Amino acid sequence: MGDFVALLGTKGGPAIRPGSTNPTSSLLSLAGQRVVVDCGLGVTRGLVDQGMQLKDIDQIVITHLHSDHYLELGPLLHTAWTAGLKTPVDVWGPEGLADYWGHFLASMRFDIDIRLADEGRPDLESLIRFHVVTPGEAFRLGPLSVTALAVEHPPVPAFAYRFEGGGKVVVFSGDTAHFPPLADFAKGADLLIHEAMLGEALPALMARIGNGDDRLMKHWLRAHTLAADAARIATAAGVKALALHHLIPSDDPAYGEAEWRTGIRDEWQGPFHLGRDGLRIDV
Ligand SMILES: [Zn+2]
Ligand SMILES: [Zn+2]
Repeated sequence: MGDFVALLGTKGGPAIRPGSTNPTSSLLSLAGQRVVVDCGLGVTRGLVDQGMQLKDIDQIVITHLHSDHYLELGPLLHTAWTAGLKTPVDVWGPEGLADYWGHFLASMRFDIDIRLADEGRPDLESLIRFHVVTPGEAFRLGPLSVTALAVEHPPVPAFAYRFEGGGKVVVFSGDTAHFPPLADFAKGADLLIHEAMLGEALPALMARIGNGDDRLMKHWLRAHTLAADAARIATAAGVKALALHHLIPSDDPAYGEAEWRTGIRDEWQGPFHLGRDGLRIDV
């Protein structure tokens, strides 16, 4: 199976537009264990496009409860069920996911009851097990040990996750403002996947979105990380490679790979991957 991270959805924020990439989701494969990290819109298709059988999903980790990170969690689990899921799935993340799941099941009750009665499917509800992650918590996913770090993403509780197994370390920043403790948390990682935005591109993005007010700009600035600061974290952590995802903006032709590379070049000189949907990074 190999050790890799596949970036399934790489744009920051929940909206999609013609030509845009998908909101955030990733597939981590480490020491023979696969983990779905975040479930933004498009995660189900993204996993299948990576060759993953949905019925084999057994571990899902969610960074926080902004919709671009869990809007498709219910549809993913439901689709896995119709694709043959019959073994338990563990879902890890902040308080609130089990509540979301309960309401998702209620919203799909007609369909689910029909499939139970008419197709003899196993009980979906009892296959899915939720675990509330708390700041600083360490837990195991099969052969992997995972640590959660509470990051700074006001007003939403949010986690970065460090995955270790088979001698490799992969760290996801989740959504966060520039958060220097992440450097210690990511110390020596083989790959850091950090969220990023380009400050000079934000006014044009505000204009394109068109229905937010200055609170949206303030949210970006206090809850997300400029590319240069993400690069600074990578350098301070001494990671072996840096990938940027959750890109803000992601669909402005004026800001392509060259502009992102310019954004980081003073702070990071190591191996670099600019996220795009479907990009597989070997670890
Ligand atoms: Zn987000
Ligand atoms: Zn967020």
